Amino acid sequence: MSSAPEHILNSVASITEQRQLQSLATCLIETIEQTLGVKQVAVINVGDLPHFPKFLTSTDFVLALDNPPPCVQRCIDTGKNAICEQDERCKVALPVKMNDAVVKVLLVYDLDLNNANLMMLQAFARIYENFARVVLDSQTDGLTGLLNRKAYDARLFHLFSHIRTETRRAPYFWMLTFDIDFFKKINDTLGHLYGDEVLLRISRAMNDCFSDDDALFRFGGDEFVVLLDNKSQHEVECICRKLMADVGKVHHEKTGPVTLSIGITSLTLEDNPMSVMMKADKALYFAKDNGRNRWAFYHDLFHHGDLLPTQIDDDIELF
Ligand code: GH3
Ligand code: MG
Repeated sequence: MSSAPEHILNSVASITEQRQLQSLATCLIETIEQTLGVKQVAVINVGDLPHFPKFLTSTDFVLALDNPPPCVQRCIDTGKNAICEQDERCKVALPVKMNDAVVKVLLVYDLDLNNANLMMLQAFARIYENFARVVLDSQTDGLTGLLNRKAYDARLFHLFSHIRTETRRAPYFWMLTFDIDFFKKINDTLGHLYGDEVLLRISRAMNDCFSDDDALFRFGGDEFVVLLDNKSQHEVECICRKLMADVGKVHHEKTGPVTLSIGITSLTLEDNPMSVMMKADKALYFAKDNGRNRWAFYHDLFHHGDLLPTQIDDDIELF
């Protein structure tokens, strides 16, 4: 444990080096552990803040989220710090807010609750709150609130560097890339504002269809990407069917129901960020070229001889 000024400054510097919400929370947890000498710290996601797991904790801290200490609910209800007495020491819950709503609770167990410790904890929570806002702004798409292209690049780079160095399974199993069919016609017929509304409705359908563990991106224009967690092919098909049905509810008499074409590829250890994107894109183009309003799995197309293998040569020119 160290609360020397230089240690605290270094901790703040480490927090502000993070560029992803998840690593930011992990860094906050480590900083609080080291500075306040505690071993059980958690950041719990309580708002509808996307792109973040339900909670993150200190190593070896098993948080029973179905039965949290009462101070967590008090903190959510009041938007203020709440304390549960615990013998000589305390459990403390601090709110993290965005737009005045509590979106996360910082929970610290077994804290020696003196003024200095409480002030330090509050200061870390505020630094985290401020910086989480900056990170969120830089990683999300302004219209839909989905993760943006920049976040996609970072996530994929991180993902593949971990697949290579770890033997455990990859956190994602599938990449889906999809694109609205005849979106130009929707814009041209009904105007750009209506087009924006379609994009927004699609992002809502995505949030309903996919789980918190999946990563949802607006890749640009009318193209979206999802990194999907551990699912069977049948489950992926069911999700695509639901997504297409939900999106189809966005309907205008002049343009008919909105439809999507979806390209899907599995993520394997042999892949790299470029090859998965190319495979998913090939499957997407196949779906587009074969009638739209459908999905295609890259490996099925490949096995049936509908596609040539995706090759990324060293001399390929990419822009
Ligand atoms: P396809 O079925 O082949 O995909 O045909 P498409 O008409 O959808 O063609 P494409 O995907 O190339 O069209 C993308 C269109 O998306 C072109 C652009 O005007 C529109 N677009 C891109 N970004 C936005 C946006 O933020 N808002 C709106 N309303 N339109 C956008
Ligand atoms: Mg399109």
